Amino acid sequence: MEANKIALVTGGSRGIGRAVCERLAKDGMDVVFSYRNGSEQAKETEQRCAAYGVRVLAVLADVSKSEDCDMLVQKALEFGNGRIDVLVNNAGITKDNLLMRIKDEDLDAVLNVNLKGSFYMMRGVSRIMLKQRSGSIINMSSVVGLMGNAGQVNYAASKAAVIGMTKSLARELASRQIKVNAVAPGMIETDMTGAIPETEKEAMKNTIPFKQMGRPEDIAGVVAFLAGEDSRYITGQVLCVDGGMAM
Ligand code: NAP
Repeated sequence: MEANKIALVTGGSRGIGRAVCERLAKDGMDVVFSYRNGSEQAKETEQRCAAYGVRVLAVLADVSKSEDCDMLVQKALEFGNGRIDVLVNNAGITKDNLLMRIKDEDLDAVLNVNLKGSFYMMRGVSRIMLKQRSGSIINMSSVVGLMGNAGQVNYAASKAAVIGMTKSLARELASRQIKVNAVAPGMIETDMTGAIPETEKEAMKNTIPFKQMGRPEDIAGVVAFLAGEDSRYITGQVLCVDGGMAM
C-alpha cells in the first residue's frame, strides 16, 4: 500500500488553517500543523483530523522566527519519513490602522509573520521538494494584496509580497514540476474578521458581489485542489476565493 502524502500547514489551530488541515486529512493526507498560542484549539484540530484515520502532529512554532521554521520543517520531515508533499503557508496576522498611525512595531509584526514566515517555510521545504522532484506549495495571500484596502497598508504590503514570492519561486521550481500557487481569500468568517464591528461588516458585505462572507471550508476546498493531482499543470497562479470581490 502506498504511504499517505504529507501536508505541512502553518497556523492550523483555528480559522482557515484548521479547515485546511481537516480537508487535507479527509482527502487522506497525514497532517503536520503549527500553532503559536492556542494549544487547546490545536488539540481540537488534531482530533478532527485524526477522525479521518490519518496521522497528525501539532507543533508549537512561531513562523516569524527562522529557527522555529527550520525546526518545524525538520519535525515534519521526520514525521513524513523523509517526505513533505504539500506546504500551506497559512499563518497570518493583521495590525490594522491608517498609515499615519501604524507604528514601526505593527509594520514589523505583520511583515515578520506574513512575509518572512512564508519565506522561511518555502526556503526550508524547497530543498526537500527539489530532491523529491515533486510537491505543491500554497501561499495564503488576500484580495487586499491585489486591490488594496484603506487601513491595511502594512497587511496589503505583506500579502502583495506573498504573490511576488509565489510567482518567483514557481519559476525557480518549475523544471522539477513543483507547483507554487497562491490563494487570495476575500472576507471569510474567522476570528480575524470577527473583530470587525457588526455594522461595518454589513457595509462590507454589500460591496461583495455575492453579498455574503465566505466560510473557511470555501478556502480549504481550493487549497485541496491546488494540493492534489487535478491541478498538476497549474503553477504561479493566484486563485481568488472572494464571492467576486476582485474580478
Ligand atoms: P485566524 O483565525 O486569526 O487564525 C490565524 C492562525 O495563524 C492561527 O492558527 C494562529 O495560531 C496562527 N498564527 C498567527 N501568528 C502566528 C505565528 N507567528 N506563528 C505561527 N502561527 C501563527 O486567521 P484566518 O482568518 O484563519 O486567516 C488565515 C490566513 O488567511 C491568514 O494568512 C490571513 O491573512 C488569510 N486571510 C484571511 C482572510 C479572512 O477574511 N479571514 C482574508 C484574506 C486572507 P494561534 O491560534 O496559536 O494564535
